[in-house]
Amino acid sequence: MKIIDEVKNAASIAISGHIRPDGDCVGSVMGLYLYLKKELPGAEVDVFLEKPAEIFDCISHIEEIKSEINTDKMYDVFIVLDCADDRLGDARPLYEKAGKRINIDHHISNPGCGDVRIVEADRSSTAELLYDLMDADKIDREIATALYIGIIHDTGVLRYSNTSPRTLQVAAELIKYGFDFSDIIQKTFYEKTYVQTQIMGRAVLESVRFMNNRCIVSMVSRRMMDFYQVNPKDLEGIVNQLQVVKDVDCAIFMYETGTLEYKVSLRSNGSVDVASVAMKFGGGGHIRAAGCTMNGTYHDNINNLSKGIAEQLNIK
Ligand code: 5GP
Ligand code: MN
Repeated sequence: MKIIDEVKNAASIAISGHIRPDGDCVGSVMGLYLYLKKELPGAEVDVFLEKPAEIFDCISHIEEIKSEINTDKMYDVFIVLDCADDRLGDARPLYEKAGKRINIDHHISNPGCGDVRIVEADRSSTAELLYDLMDADKIDREIATALYIGIIHDTGVLRYSNTSPRTLQVAAELIKYGFDFSDIIQKTFYEKTYVQTQIMGRAVLESVRFMNNRCIVSMVSRRMMDFYQVNPKDLEGIVNQLQVVKDVDCAIFMYETGTLEYKVSLRSNGSVDVASVAMKFGGGGHIRAAGCTMNGTYHDNINNLSKGIAEQLNIK
């Protein structure tokens, strides 16, 4: 199946992804946007997303992302990428009204939404899946760059276990378009500002191990974010840093989003299915990387998460 067959008769198309967009979300949304604009020059193609982190400014036309939503507007097709309709955020009213709804995702926790559901949980990233839904000869350097960023971010630079032979083949095809992949990996994945490094250091310093040292947890409060003058986008990567501690099976990181409200990130080495833990609290994700939003005190949240984790690790 090719995506063009599902949208070629549409006069207007909207594309969106999830709130707090990560690299795969931004790369997928922009890759598909650039592709459809090129393939369907007569159609109106719009892209809606929460403002991406500045590191993604290397993606062409990223400034065309719309954040203002005219809820009266009816699109012929609405494409939801990298999530289901429940995490669309402000663009959701446009999805509800659209003539045809397409969902393309790779999250095991997503049952799919809309009229056309392409959810493949064995894909490393939505970007990898999108590549196979595009005609390779219509891809150009700008589209390839966006898709490559998606793959790189969701695989931790082709390193996590979700990297398959197909992932590497797609990455190989994409780098043929000649963008500076080394620079892109450095600038979007590894490089951190000084304050980002400082707050990561603080979170690591204050981390605590429990459950026979098989779990590790840390938290960043709003006061800490104010002190370092950072926002949630600056906290990317902290949970992964916690997960690399030797003998840790499961890492928990949370940051305060409001009074008694925390955004939780979970990572595991495979011995815990963190998607199922996150789903108990209304979240989702993958077996080794998942997230949710929780209400309650920091310690109550740790206790509640621990129940599901301890069961899976057979710890009483
Ligand atoms: P992160 O911890 O980096 O925010 O997210 C890890 C994975 O879990 C990503 O694939 C992300 O899309 C997913 N995820 C994070 N938070 C949520 C959530 O609240 N709901 C759902 N369904 N997925 C989430
Ligand atoms: Mn995502």
